[in-house]
Amino acid sequence: MLERLREGGVRDPRVLAAMAAVPREAFVQPADQLDAYVDRALPIGHNQTISQPLMVAIIVEALELRDGDHALDVGTGSGYQAAVMAACGAHVVSLERIPELAAGAAERLGALGLDVEVLTGDGSLGAPERAPFDAIAVGAAAPRLPLALARQLREGGRLVVPIGGGYQGEELTRLRLTGGTWITESLGPCRFVPLIGADAYDATG
Ligand code: SAM
Repeated sequence: MLERLREGGVRDPRVLAAMAAVPREAFVQPADQLDAYVDRALPIGHNQTISQPLMVAIIVEALELRDGDHALDVGTGSGYQAAVMAACGAHVVSLERIPELAAGAAERLGALGLDVEVLTGDGSLGAPERAPFDAIAVGAAAPRLPLALARQLREGGRLVVPIGGGYQGEELTRLRLTGGTWITESLGPCRFVPLIGADAYDATG
């Protein structure tokens, strides 16, 4: 898997070490154990997926996490991306809208002793009571820049979010708050399930 991540352009040694340290087999379903390190998304129930390892590594690298960063992960799913963020040294709050997925992820992350607090709720609105954040990752596609999340960044903070056309494919976008100004950059095409919530898609698509 690490070879594939390097081929895919991931260079940050901290991220590569975190990807090597987190056991992805603990986050996939029993039937998919043999495919745990194959570079593709896998089903986790409730019509959701654990993201492809390369995409997780690209997102986490783009977050530029440092030891002790206060980070928000929107769309916990299996908890894998939150685990990689914690393995990079961040204190992670992770928000999931589906209570059963949140409960499963909290159990898995707790068993691994990782510094992740899993909450159930609408991540399109962020976690204002825990803001500001040094880094925010969104693991589902937003129809537009989620303003509530952008407003929860600390000065110097980074928000990485897929933005675009739902199931049609999206653009991975990084927003950085620098000198009070939001600066956005495109990190390339990607494909995610939709972010569903008050400042996102509605549940009917
Ligand atoms: N990063 C996750 C992992 O490592 O397993 C996979 C994320 S999965 C592709 C997207 C997740 O976002 C799903 O679990 C879905 O339920 C969740 N989601 C969608 N809209 C959400 C919202 N508004 N708030 C929180 N979670 C949301």
